Amino acid sequence: MTQPDLTCSSPPYWRVAVIGSGPAGFYAVGELLKQQEMPVKVDLFDRLPTPYGLVRGGVAPDHQKIKAVCKIFDRIAGQEHFRYFGNVEFGRDLNRSEMLDHYDAVLYTVGSRSDRKLGIPGEDLEGSHSATEFVGWYNAHPDYRDKRFNLDSEQAVIIGMGNVAIDVARILSHRHEELAQTDISDEALSALASSRVKDIWIIGRRGPVQAAFTPVEARELMHLPETEVVLEADALDLDPASQRFLQEEAGKDIRKNIDLLEEMLETPPREKKKRLHILFLVSPVEIVGEQGKVSSIKLRRNQLVEKPDGSIRAEGTDRMLELKTGLVFRSVGYRGEPLPGVPFDEKSGTIPNEQGQILEEGSPCPREYTAGWIKRGPSGVVGTNKPDAIESVKKMLSALDSSGKKPLETKQVPDIAQLLRNREVDFVSFQDWKLLEDYETKAGEAEGRPRKKVGTVKEMMEVVRSLREG
Ligand SMILES: Cc1cc2nc3c(=O)[nH]c(=O)nc-3n(C[C@H](O)[C@H](O)[C@H](O)COP(=O)(O)OP(=O)(O)OC[C@H]3O[C@@H](n4cnc5c(N)ncnc54)[C@H](O)[C@@H]3O)c2cc1C
Repeated sequence: MTQPDLTCSSPPYWRVAVIGSGPAGFYAVGELLKQQEMPVKVDLFDRLPTPYGLVRGGVAPDHQKIKAVCKIFDRIAGQEHFRYFGNVEFGRDLNRSEMLDHYDAVLYTVGSRSDRKLGIPGEDLEGSHSATEFVGWYNAHPDYRDKRFNLDSEQAVIIGMGNVAIDVARILSHRHEELAQTDISDEALSALASSRVKDIWIIGRRGPVQAAFTPVEARELMHLPETEVVLEADALDLDPASQRFLQEEAGKDIRKNIDLLEEMLETPPREKKKRLHILFLVSPVEIVGEQGKVSSIKLRRNQLVEKPDGSIRAEGTDRMLELKTGLVFRSVGYRGEPLPGVPFDEKSGTIPNEQGQILEEGSPCPREYTAGWIKRGPSGVVGTNKPDAIESVKKMLSALDSSGKKPLETKQVPDIAQLLRNREVDFVSFQDWKLLEDYETKAGEAEGRPRKKVGTVKEMMEVVRSLREG
């Protein structure tokens, strides 16, 4: 737990706490540590011992290239005036007023932990899950370690057509050999090895032009060795409004998606072991259960109609469809959770803010800021969080600069590390994390995998403690 002593040094540095070590947190730290005119010292906190947020716990295990962004985060963490406090949860170990006592400014970058509900009967039956749970489980996120999924069901239905839905479908479709080369959790690797899922349905309430997945992800589906993509014969018979949108307004991703879907439709059936059905223009109306467990899902066929404001909306028809299944995933968006004592907008699931500065009952909080998914909602790729975090940091620095106040450091405010030690919070430094990472990487190497993740906080802390001492 060796951390540099940041309490007495000159010139006086502004002290900033960043809460949440996902992409938004790291990009903000990078920007803060760049400042020459207003030097800053940054403490980065995370509730887990492990950093990187959804890059570790969300990005799919067969997408290792994306995880290479962690090298950039490591370079940021390697700078002077940076400290990491893993295994420290805001709201459990530290609260808002303590943060404001110890820091000149606080930036919340806690992401969107929860998920949106569908609000249909049967949603809470056994066998109906959020994609968040499945993603967390296959990525060895400690919160989801004990989840179980009915992989004996021959049919799985994924509600939603974004990239997360595609990730879930791909993981269900891969062969064991492919997954065994990744850093998927050991629990998921062994459970998926005996999976009986053969037909995977991705369903969306609107049509192909409105689908939220991106072409790179869609193309991957065409190259799954054991799985073929199946579309309904009329899947690309577009309604007039979608046709016009495609011709006049659609960006290149939508055009590419349509080209890819055409290619899928034209590919003759190849009698592969599994089928991935992409089903447009249906809305789930009920998840049906038998003895408390999912047995089927009822869907209503939709048609698209153009509204007077030019938007294209799905409207239900009287045509119904029922799919037998024991496994349903809801992938209709993530949602932020409130932090104790911090302003929160229930409707959007975000922290209310103006260019990153938190608003409390409409008034700006002079020393509190936010960035990433909890600031703008759960959209965008890893890189989207960089300009977003920079905007918040700029706003923070300009407010500190014009506040007329001196950095807290000049008043010899005690170090937060002392408070945590008094509370017996065993925090994880970046060096500690690197020991754990090295342990995971070595364990993975032995099996030809990038890493073998430790799956519970308890085990992580045992590894850290033993390596720290050794
Ligand atoms: C399933 C999935 C797959 C994705 N795949 C890709 C992809 O392939 N490519 C791509 O570019 N983007 C991908 N994304 C998007 C990308 O992951 C996000 O844009 C990005 O992670 C959001 O960053 P963030 O920092 O706002 O939140 P997060 O990454 O969620 O980080 C938030 C951090 O805050 C911590 N935290 C939460 N609460 C507290 C608390 N109370 N106290 C302390 N710490 C706390 C969390 O532990 C976490 O580390 C994916 C997203 C998901 C959900």
